[in-house]
Amino acid sequence: MFTAKDYALPQTLEEAWETLIARKTNHIVAGCAWLRMGSKRINTAVDLSEAGLDFINDTGDTIEIGAMTSYRTVEKSRLLQENFGGMLSAAVAPIIGVQFRNTVTVGGSVFSRFGFSDFLTPLMVTDATVKLYKGGLVPLAEFMEMPYKKDILEKIILRKEPMSASYQNLRGAEADFPIVNLAVSKTGDVYKVAVGARPQRAVLAPETAAFLAGAPMDECTIEKAADILTGEVPFGTNMRAGADYRQKMAKVLLKRALKEVWGC
Ligand SMILES: Cc1cc2nc3c(=O)[nH]c(=O)nc-3n(C[C@H](O)[C@H](O)[C@H](O)COP(=O)(O)OP(=O)(O)OC[C@H]3O[C@@H](n4cnc5c(N)ncnc54)[C@H](O)[C@@H]3O)c2cc1C
Repeated sequence: MFTAKDYALPQTLEEAWETLIARKTNHIVAGCAWLRMGSKRINTAVDLSEAGLDFINDTGDTIEIGAMTSYRTVEKSRLLQENFGGMLSAAVAPIIGVQFRNTVTVGGSVFSRFGFSDFLTPLMVTDATVKLYKGGLVPLAEFMEMPYKKDILEKIILRKEPMSASYQNLRGAEADFPIVNLAVSKTGDVYKVAVGARPQRAVLAPETAAFLAGAPMDECTIEKAADILTGEVPFGTNMRAGADYRQKMAKVLLKRALKEVWGC
């Protein structure tokens, strides 16, 4: 459990930022599900609950998801169910249980860039940009490569595009972290493929995506794409699985995802 000497409930982002930078050990708190697992010693816990970041908005060309939006809201959002092939809502729906999903936030997940995230991998195959209070607009793929630096994630901006999409994952048990996960989107002839829980952060697989563009939708393409994928994406070993196993399972997940995307 973390400990905090003081607590702040800012009403604006500027107030949150000023409090955050006032001392090195001041820290943003969101759903606190992850923070509770550690033993961080925080000077002032800066709670974003009242900073106006709990929303899912349709702006016409884009959908914006505020950082304090819970996974449960993502799961139940009609807007997200009807866009991006419903993949984002479906990806978070099975995580642990309703009470948990009511607590954990999009901001806590995305800013932390967890390798195991069920939300980040499908997000990578959309056209997503993050809005940081100080860092401004950063494409998600670039943000995933950036080192941690004090900032506040305000929202995620997703460009609406008609796509068929699929999110696949493998777990040892329903309530455990994924051993490996994978997402595919197809907009016209353009594919995006992302692999996460490698166990490192999710990455795009551009060679696999380029091969799929214009290729026939058949078993032969699936086999070849699976080989390209495992050639370009590095996998690692941790307590959940070895690199070899992850590599083999990623092939299976790609096959399942392509079949779903193609509707066969
Ligand atoms: C037991 C357990 C099992 C889990 N299983 C899964 C799983 O299977 N799949 C999955 O995808 N996820 C899983 N998660 C992760 C979970 O979904 C959340 O990603 C995680 O709890 C962080 O969200 P939070 O709101 O609790 O963040 P917090 O714990 O409050 O914060 C986490 C970190 O993010 C920072 N932060 C939070 N919001 C912002 C912001 N707006 N700007 C800047 N920094 C911010 C905080 O300072 C902190 O460092 C699991 C978590 C736990 C504890």
